[in-house]
Amino acid sequence: MHKNQSTELLFDLSRAGRRCHRLPASDVPAAPLKDLLPASALADAPPPLPEVGEIDLIRHYVNLSTRNMSIDTNFYPLGSCTMKYNPKRHERLSSLPGMADMHPLQSDESCQGMLALLFEMQNILGEIAGLDAVSLQPAAGAQGELTALLVAAAYFRDRGEKRTRVLIPDSAHGTNPASAAIAGFDAVSIKSTAKGLVDLEDLKSRLDARTAVFMITNPNTLGLFDDQIATITELIHQHGALVYLDGANMNAILGITRPGDFGVDMMHYNVHKTFTGPHGAGGPGSGPIAVRKQLAPFLPAPLVTRQGERYELDYDRPQSIGRVRSFFGNVGILVRGYCYIRTLGAAGLREVSENAVLNANYLLSRVKHVYEVPQGDRCMHEFVASARTLRRERKISAMDVAKRLLDYGYHAPTVYFPLVVPEAIMIEPTETESKETLDAFADTLLRIRDEDAGYLHDAPHTLTISRPDEVKAAKEPILRWKP
Ligand SMILES: *Cc1c(COP(=O)(O)O)cnc(C)c1O
Repeated sequence: MHKNQSTELLFDLSRAGRRCHRLPASDVPAAPLKDLLPASALADAPPPLPEVGEIDLIRHYVNLSTRNMSIDTNFYPLGSCTMKYNPKRHERLSSLPGMADMHPLQSDESCQGMLALLFEMQNILGEIAGLDAVSLQPAAGAQGELTALLVAAAYFRDRGEKRTRVLIPDSAHGTNPASAAIAGFDAVSIKSTAKGLVDLEDLKSRLDARTAVFMITNPNTLGLFDDQIATITELIHQHGALVYLDGANMNAILGITRPGDFGVDMMHYNVHKTFTGPHGAGGPGSGPIAVRKQLAPFLPAPLVTRQGERYELDYDRPQSIGRVRSFFGNVGILVRGYCYIRTLGAAGLREVSENAVLNANYLLSRVKHVYEVPQGDRCMHEFVASARTLRRERKISAMDVAKRLLDYGYHAPTVYFPLVVPEAIMIEPTETESKETLDAFADTLLRIRDEDAGYLHDAPHTLTISRPDEVKAAKEPILRWKP
């Protein structure tokens, strides 16, 4: 077996007495530990740690790291997640000592530079959204949703209005109804039309004085821009409710349109998707929210404000819902996002979206004759193909295709989401990939169609793990490998 496919643990490599280092003999007299520490702090025996040499240790971890799929090693067409390349310059800038070595409890005086950056980031994100006020605190998109819904709840409470429902199209990301429920609302599902847009009749029939918020993802998770949006937001406002935009798909509309301009009252960004923070595997994210003026008093405290030339953290916000995150959120990701936005500028951001949409449409046009796209043959930054015909005719499922792609060195696309498309394969190439990469991926998808169905059912064939029971793997992980 190739070394980096090895399933050996560091414990298996352990040899008694082996060390990574040798220290010179101590020139101070040894004192027994029990004279230095209270008995309650002493263990009976040393911890059973692996004893290995430095080179074994390095090889073990470097080999493990090469088993990771990452955007730096492989194409990652993961629909909805916007896995675009993260320029290395942002890593360098965010790890400058002045950024990386800050302490969250420093005085405002001693971190004016960082506060200026965050203040500008608030303004920039407000401008891109077309909204008035921004909180950078939420640590991810889902937390942004929850925070904004808590802001909405505080807003209605302040107005003395009792509104209990959040309306959500059935194509929405699962976090939307989850956030509504955690914020104390009842989530009500709104149907989509056959074309994948909001069913206006269904929306009208459910809209009433109980409605607090309508949550929409636009472009939606099918990669379609809902062009009824102005009508929809007007309708919602006539009923005194608010419109929330799930901004995970901002990659498609940067500099082209602004949520505030099409009637949205509040939204979140996923800085780690749209503005290149590294993400995946539960790593740090950042989900700032932007809101209209009337909602601003309820935003989490603190916000960054400027008094003359001085920046400060403003905690004096009596109507605030309070904190949603320790300190100031995931500042390191905000710094990366800030670098990205400032590097590209307004015209560059628009180009990002134009190229993201172009790449997705190119890929769609190359594969749609095999992987049909039920909701039409044009898309925004992503599209949802379906393996339903493959499944019917050749017993090849979306899962088979996704698993087989791993053998060819691709990260699998998102599958079985959104739920409204059977055998969904959701593909988002992003703007950072070349035509050659897109062509190679399309060729591979077409080749898989012709492979033996039985062989595909057992794919992947080249990886250490093939088809784990995913639920069992999450609920009962085996953390020690046994031969
Ligand atoms: C990713 C995503 C979310 C959740 O964002 P996180 O940053 O992962 O919490 C919500 N909605 C949509 C459409 C998404 O793609």
